Amino acid sequence: MLARRDGHTHTQFCPHGSHEPTERFIDRAIELGFTSYSLTEHAPLPGGFIDPTADQSCGMRPEDLEPYLAHAQRLKILYAERIEVRVGLEVDYIPGYETEIRSMLNAQGSQLDDALLSVHFLQGKGGWRCVDFNPEDFLQGLVEPYGSVEAVHAAYWAAVEQAVEADLGPYKPRRMSHLSLVHKFQLKHSLKQPRHFQRQIFRILDAMQERGMELDLDAAGLFKSDCREMYPAPWIVAEALRLGIPFVYGSDTHSVKGVGQGFDEAERVVISAARDIDSCSG
Ligand SMILES: [Zn+2]
Ligand SMILES: [Zn+2]
Repeated sequence: MLARRDGHTHTQFCPHGSHEPTERFIDRAIELGFTSYSLTEHAPLPGGFIDPTADQSCGMRPEDLEPYLAHAQRLKILYAERIEVRVGLEVDYIPGYETEIRSMLNAQGSQLDDALLSVHFLQGKGGWRCVDFNPEDFLQGLVEPYGSVEAVHAAYWAAVEQAVEADLGPYKPRRMSHLSLVHKFQLKHSLKQPRHFQRQIFRILDAMQERGMELDLDAAGLFKSDCREMYPAPWIVAEALRLGIPFVYGSDTHSVKGVGQGFDEAERVVISAARDIDSCSG
């Protein structure tokens, strides 16, 4: 049902990852029976953007981009007989930085087999904030200045909608990563109505479908103690499936042990959503 393809993984180049050799990630994927594996390291953040983390560790260092791509190309060739390795990037969409993002993609896009587009950053207290850093930062950096959890989600979904619509040139990533990442701390900082943003989210899915975009079925949220849910949430998966938007499973792993995490659960969610659609139409 769900292709044994991991479309979202991090590597030894990740500044906030385990720093284990990328070969060990790929070996583990082969062991688990995956047939395709995308290396999607965090692209460097645009020049002038102030990374909110103390150690500036959200994206790859700009000087690492060329070595990373060379490393990925080398692994693609090295493993070609055993698994399809795709050379990719996870690219941040940051409102206002479209020109910088487009020029990075124009420079590197022809080397990429795969790419993801993510929203991790929102304007918050004192500047940019990660929506997925930790629950305390989510509260102090975002909920307090915005005034409510609802207002933070509204800003997040507006940024996602902009990301889908943004003109990032011919190499714009086709797949949206972890669409409901703003749910990461939902068990601590909950919406009053879990589907408060349903209309807007469904509009985003429509826009994605019109543009031929795909979804990252990102299992990482299942393992976050304040989330316990895939990104996107199963009810969003069901609507995307109804619209015929293609999915690619993503472990979003930052360590060897996370390769393939949550694949069975991701598959179960897709199968149960497909069954619901069948029973509605039949
Ligand atoms: Zn990461
Ligand atoms: Zn991400």
